[in-house]
Amino acid sequence: MAAQTEESDTAREQIKAEQDVDQVRQRAVRDQQRLDSGAVTSPKDLENLQREIVSLAKRQGDLEDIVLEVMERRESAQERAAELTERVASVQSKIDDATARRDAATESLDGETATVTKEREVVSATIPADLLKLYDKLRQQVGGVGAAKLYQRTCQGCRQELSITDFNEVRAAASNTVVRCENCGRILVRTSESGL
Ligand SMILES: [Zn+2]
Repeated sequence: MAAQTEESDTAREQIKAEQDVDQVRQRAVRDQQRLDSGAVTSPKDLENLQREIVSLAKRQGDLEDIVLEVMERRESAQERAAELTERVASVQSKIDDATARRDAATESLDGETATVTKEREVVSATIPADLLKLYDKLRQQVGGVGAAKLYQRTCQGCRQELSITDFNEVRAAASNTVVRCENCGRILVRTSESGL
């Protein structure tokens, strides 16, 4: 916006400078016509007129230099504005691209959430109510995961290896007993890889 403002400011400045040149040029033309007409006869008036024509020519030259200087500034302002406009377009296209990818990811995650939610409903219907209640309570307490696999004597929830005593208790527990990690409290899921 600043570059565009500078561009329009210098455009106005150029018009003003060109009008200044025009005014001086027209006055010089009028003076020259008066001189050529022969209407001015007094030597003093003639001398003044000639002096003014010389001075107007000098003034016109100075004003034309100003026009050139303004034109140069206007040109670089135009280049700068064009370059920035291009960059804005490039950044906008990146934003559009990222937005489209985000929307697609959101849609895909929504679909996945719906699928997983349905699966969970099916599975949770097969689990005893008191165990499900304990699981949901633990989930809230330990950040989302209420049960963890016991893998090679280690709780996969907190990554702590069970002490000998705890491990022996788990080993001795009946297969339908709910065993829990002494360290994090999660329900331990025993498998053939538990090291029991
Ligand atoms: Zn644990």
